[in-house]
Amino acid sequence: MIRIDGSFGEGGGQILRTSLSLSLATGKAFRIENIRAGRERPGLLRQHLTAVLAAAEVGNAEVRGATLGSTELAFSPGPIRAGEYRFSVGTAGSGTLVFQTVLPALMLASEPSRVVIEGGTHNTAAPPFDFLARAFLPLLERMGPKVLLKFERYGFYPAGGGRFCAEIHPANTLKPLHIGERGEITSRRSTGVVANLPRHIAQREVETVGKMLNWGPECFSVEESRDSAGPGNIVMIEIGSREVTEIFSAFGQVGLSAEKVASIAARDAREYLVSRAAAGEHLTDQLLLPLALAGAGSFTAERINMHARTNMNVISEFLPVRFEIRGEEGFTSVNVAC
Ligand code: ATP
Repeated sequence: MIRIDGSFGEGGGQILRTSLSLSLATGKAFRIENIRAGRERPGLLRQHLTAVLAAAEVGNAEVRGATLGSTELAFSPGPIRAGEYRFSVGTAGSGTLVFQTVLPALMLASEPSRVVIEGGTHNTAAPPFDFLARAFLPLLERMGPKVLLKFERYGFYPAGGGRFCAEIHPANTLKPLHIGERGEITSRRSTGVVANLPRHIAQREVETVGKMLNWGPECFSVEESRDSAGPGNIVMIEIGSREVTEIFSAFGQVGLSAEKVASIAARDAREYLVSRAAAGEHLTDQLLLPLALAGAGSFTAERINMHARTNMNVISEFLPVRFEIRGEEGFTSVNVAC
């Protein structure tokens, strides 16, 4: 039984989710203590509990400690079962993080699966649905599996109620992925989304992005959602290049002007554009697990943050991989090898 200390490094929810994903993918049981000890409200929140229950269902696992607020969990997986699943976070907790937890096992299963996810689709501190669809999954697909996504409804904090579906066509094994320098920029787009809020918020956001990045109106789009359970706003900045698509985002908040929200995302995008690296910091920590499962891979990263370092540590508990990091802040190369 692998023992994981949930207070290690960043001490966040990723330690648990990575452990669940790799436990399913490798068949190795684990026990975790001090779950999310580094966070203000430690233990399993609804999103983490949903991820545990989803992983248990997919992997026919025996689980102890799967209750809200629990800081300890024991997880022993059985055989992976591909098929039809519906996972509902029940709050505005991130559905994309729940999806990413079970995806590695389902993309290596013997049959295709269909998964419906309900909850938050666009949450702070989680991959927005668009990031999953256009930044993360296209890279994963280069490794073999095919994942078709269908977006149905926005779910923003605090009302949630979003929904998307995924059809997962597995691969027997994952091919290593090698991504060099980012290369020439081939597309630029900024999208402001408002759910049950005035359109001008999103319009001002994309215009602010345009001013800060020197992009013209042909790069702007505004989307209004009327069927969301509650209000919400996100501005996204999508940058396509030969090697990768990156998406930077920021969320509207009461008390924060549309211009301020847009400037948060635009600052991140500007830093990325200055660097020659292919992966921004979020893509960096999310690529580590699939590359480790493939047993090899490499990419250039803008930076390696604490979240990524923590994730490398957890991955190394389950898989015999080495992460070699070379370079400096702004342009780092990451190499994954057995
Ligand atoms: P907690 O640590 O409170 O348990 P959590 O369970 O939501 O929070 P984290 O450990 O913070 O999870 O992990 C969040 C994940 O979401 C990381 O993989 C990170 O890369 C990803 N992420 C966060 N913000 C973004 C963003 N703007 N775009 C893409 N991915 C993001």
